[in-house]
Amino acid sequence: MSCGEIDLKCRKCHLSDKRTKVVPGTGPCNARLVLIGEAPGRDEDLRGEPFVGRAGKLLDAALDECGVSRKSVYITNVVKCRPPKNRKPRDDEAMTCSEYLFSELEDVKPSVVCILGQTAAKHLLSERRSMSALSKEDFEMIIDGRHVKVFVTFHPAACLYQRKHLKAFKTSIRKSLESAGLA
Ligand code: URA
Repeated sequence: MSCGEIDLKCRKCHLSDKRTKVVPGTGPCNARLVLIGEAPGRDEDLRGEPFVGRAGKLLDAALDECGVSRKSVYITNVVKCRPPKNRKPRDDEAMTCSEYLFSELEDVKPSVVCILGQTAAKHLLSERRSMSALSKEDFEMIIDGRHVKVFVTFHPAACLYQRKHLKAFKTSIRKSLESAGLA
């Protein structure tokens, strides 16, 4: 189930020209933890669901290790349409699509947000420091007037290519789940 108000026929930016499906977030609308990635890839574009490809399997495995199913958390992305050739979403695209992300966050009202990767950290926290630095700090976001704890970690796709980041990724996922009272 997706939350917030997302137009599955959205044409607000150029990403809609080449996408197959809009990819809204999935998970319960009362989830205590929201995980935010960058943008749908090829598998997600075809299925209309976030994190269903290889990176998604790695995320599922990290959740499983903590005894948590993906069905207990809300998973979404900065932009809801696949950028051509999986390039990073541009600032204007992220800005246009932020209306949807904030509508999801305002609906779900999580107690914890976990940001997956540099692109989401840049758009949501205006942070450009390295993932190694960001993953050691705790952040805060204000959603609908509420202070929400934010953790930042490596994108699971980065862990597929650089296995050395896997441990830090899993630690952050556990920390986010514990902080949300889910593990
Ligand atoms: N990478 C992302 O950032 N999001 C997805 O949904 C899949 C891969």
